[in-house]
Amino acid sequence: MMPGGGWRGSMGTVGGIPRTYGLQRNFGKEKPKDPVNRQRTTVRRIAAWFRPYWGSWLLVVFCILLTSGLSVLPPFCVAGIVDVAIPEKRADLLMLLAGAMVGLAVLSGLVGVLQQTLTAKVGQGILHDLRTHLFTHLQDMSLAFFMTNRSGEILSRLNNDVNAARSVATGTLVGIISNLATLAATSVALFSMNPRLTILAVAVVPAFHIPSMVVGKIRRRLSGQTQAQQATLLGFMGERLHVAGITLTRIFGQQEADARTFSRHSEHVRDLNVKQSVVGRWLFMILSTFSALGPALVFWVGGQQVMAEALSVGQLIAFAALLGLLYRPLMQLATVYVDIQGAFAVFDRIFEYLDLEPGLPLPEKPVTPARIEGRMVFDRVMFQYPTAAPPGRETGAEKTTPELRPALRGLNLQIEPGQRVALVGRSGAGKSTLTLLVPRFYDPTSGRVTLDGIDLRQYDPGALQSHIGMVTQETFLFHDTLRMNLLYARPGASEEEMIAACKAAHVHDFIAGLPDGYDTVVGERGFRLSGGEKQRVSIARALLKDPAILILDEATSSLDATSESLVQEALETLLRGRTSLVIAHRLSTVLGADQIVVMDQGKVEDAGTHAELITRDGLYRELFEQQFRHVLSTVPAPFSDGRKMKS
Ligand code: ATP
Repeated sequence: MMPGGGWRGSMGTVGGIPRTYGLQRNFGKEKPKDPVNRQRTTVRRIAAWFRPYWGSWLLVVFCILLTSGLSVLPPFCVAGIVDVAIPEKRADLLMLLAGAMVGLAVLSGLVGVLQQTLTAKVGQGILHDLRTHLFTHLQDMSLAFFMTNRSGEILSRLNNDVNAARSVATGTLVGIISNLATLAATSVALFSMNPRLTILAVAVVPAFHIPSMVVGKIRRRLSGQTQAQQATLLGFMGERLHVAGITLTRIFGQQEADARTFSRHSEHVRDLNVKQSVVGRWLFMILSTFSALGPALVFWVGGQQVMAEALSVGQLIAFAALLGLLYRPLMQLATVYVDIQGAFAVFDRIFEYLDLEPGLPLPEKPVTPARIEGRMVFDRVMFQYPTAAPPGRETGAEKTTPELRPALRGLNLQIEPGQRVALVGRSGAGKSTLTLLVPRFYDPTSGRVTLDGIDLRQYDPGALQSHIGMVTQETFLFHDTLRMNLLYARPGASEEEMIAACKAAHVHDFIAGLPDGYDTVVGERGFRLSGGEKQRVSIARALLKDPAILILDEATSSLDATSESLVQEALETLLRGRTSLVIAHRLSTVLGADQIVVMDQGKVEDAGTHAELITRDGLYRELFEQQFRHVLSTVPAPFSDGRKMKS
C-alpha cells in the first residue's frame, strides 16, 4: 500500500501508483474520534511519506548533530581567550583560539550548505510524491466527485495545501532535530561548566511549553480555516475568470456583485492570515520574556559567585553566551510545535482527499478482450446518483438521499451488435444516465449491464473503455495544439491516420487552412473554434480511436445549413459499422435508427423502428410531433406515414 494512500485492489499502475478507475461512492475512512489518537494517526501517516527518504534523512541528522556540536565550541574559545590567553599574555594561544573561531564558523557553514541541499531535495521529493499521488488519486474519482466540488477548490488542495505541507518536510522537521541537538549539546556544555547555574537556567524551561500548547491549538484551527477559505477563493476565481463564467457575468451585469463577493472572500483570507501572524508574534513575545528571565537569574547568582571568586568573569560570560544557545532552540522548538499544529491541519485536508476511496469494485480476474462484438443487455437496471458529500464536511459513508428518485428504475434493453440505437424521451427521462453506465462511469445500483454476455463489472475498466467512444454535446478541447487534442484519442496514431480521420470528419481543409495548421493552439476548452468546427474535431478524435461502441449525444444547438450538413456527414462516417447509442435530437437520426428506444421516468416505455412506433398512439408519437412537427412539412411522405398528427 502506498504511504498515506489507502488504495484498494489495483489494476494497472502509473509511475508505481495503483490505478482504480473511477470512484462511485465516497467512503470516508474510519478516523479515530479522540484528538490524541487522531494526531497519532496523522503523525504516522506523515512519517510514511518520509520513509522512502530515510537514507538522506540520516545524513541530514548527521549534519545537524555536527553543526550543533560545532556551535557550542566558540564560547569555550572565548573563555580561553578571556581567562588564559589575555591574562597570561600568550599571543600564540590568542591567535590559535581566534583562528579556531573562524575555522569553526567556516566548517559549520559548509556542513550547513550540505544539510540545506539534502533537506531541499527531500522536501521537494516529498512534495512531488504527494502531488503526484493526489493527482492520480483524483483522476480516479467519480464524476459525482467533480460535480460536487468546484475545480478551483480541488486545485487548491492539490497546490496550496501540498505546498503548505512542504514546510513540515523541510523547515519543521529539520528545526526539531537541529534544535534538539543544539539543546543537548548546550546542556552538556553548560553542565560541565557550572552545574548549579545550569539547574537554575533550566528551571524556566517548562514555562516554554505551556504557551506553545495553547498557541498550537489556535494555530491548527486557524490554519485549517485559512486553507479552506483559500480554496473557496480559488474556486470562485476559477469559475468567474473562466471564459464561460465571465461571459455570464457580463451578460447579467454582475461584475460589481461578483467583485464584492470576491472581496469578501479575500477579506476572510486576509483576516485569517493576519490572525495567524499575530498569534505567532504573541507566542514570540511570551517566550522572549521567559528567555530574559534565565540570563537575569544567571547573572544575579553567577555575579555573586564571581564576587566570591568561585567563578571567573570569562566563565560567567561564556556561560551567558551558552545560555543564549540553550534558549534559542527552546524558543524555536516552541515555534516549531506551533507550526506543526498548523501543518497537521493541512495534512488532514490532504489525507481527506486521499481517503476518498474509489468505490468501483474491481474484478478478481479482469476480462481484457482484444475485440468486442457489441451485444449489450440492460437487465432490470436501477440507478440512483450518489450524492458525494464534499470533503471536509462529511467523512462518513456515502449518503443517498431517500427523497431523490432513482434516475433509472428497472430498465430493460437489448442492443444487437452493429445496431444504431436512438434514445428519445422527455428531458430528465434518464437518457444520459443510461449512456454513462456503458463505460462504467457508474455501476447500476441493482440489476446488471452485460456486454457480449459478460457483466460490465467483470471487465478491466481500462480495456472496456478502450472499446468505447464518446462524442458529447459540449466538445471539450485542451488548451493545446489541434494535433495534441486529436492524438489524445490514440497517441500512437501516425500523421496519415490523423489526417485521414480529419478528412473523414470534414475538418481537414479547415485545419490545413489555419496559419499553424495542426499545430494551432485551440485556446481554453477550444473557445477559438466555432461550434461546428469543434464538433467535427471531436468526431475526428473519435474516428481516430476507432471504437466498437459509440455513444453520441447529438448537439441541440442549431448550426447553419453548411456546417450542419458537414457535421451530419461526419457523423454518418463515424457511426457506420459500430454499435451506437445516440441521444437523438436530429430527425434523420431518429428515422435512420435500427431501434428507437423511448424512455420515460427511468424506464424503457417502448422500443422499435420509426414505422412501428409511429403507428402506436403512445409517447413516441407525442414526442415526434412535438420535436419534429416544424420539419415534418419538409419530410418526404414515407416518414410521415400519411397519418394525421395530433395537434
Ligand atoms: P436531458 O434530455 O434533459 O439531457 P436525460 O433524459 O438525459 O435529460 P438524465 O440527465 O439522464 O436525463 O437525468 C435523469 C435524472 O437524473 C434526472 O432526474 C436528473 O435530475 C438526475 N440527474 C442527472 N444527473 C445527476 C447527477 N449528477 N446527480 C444527481 N442526479 C442527477
